Amino acid sequence: MSVALRHLPRVFTLHIRCDNCLRESSRTIEVPAVDDAPCDVDELVESGFLGALRFNCVCAGVVGQIIGISQERSYGL
Ligand SMILES: [Zn+2]
Repeated sequence: MSVALRHLPRVFTLHIRCDNCLRESSRTIEVPAVDDAPCDVDELVESGFLGALRFNCVCAGVVGQIIGISQERSYGL
């Protein structure tokens, strides 16, 4: 059995700090495996995908600063 890696969804973990209470949280996002899907962190940032995400903090803050992004490498394996 062979698996074409490029067709797997990419999974990234975002590290976000609330602009209101400064609480840090992480969030896992899954990017659909479409043809022009970002395949690494740089492409993710450039894709505009992050701009479409909604952020909601437990303090009811809705503005989050992304302070780090990491890519999960072994998803599905
Ligand atoms: Zn907050």
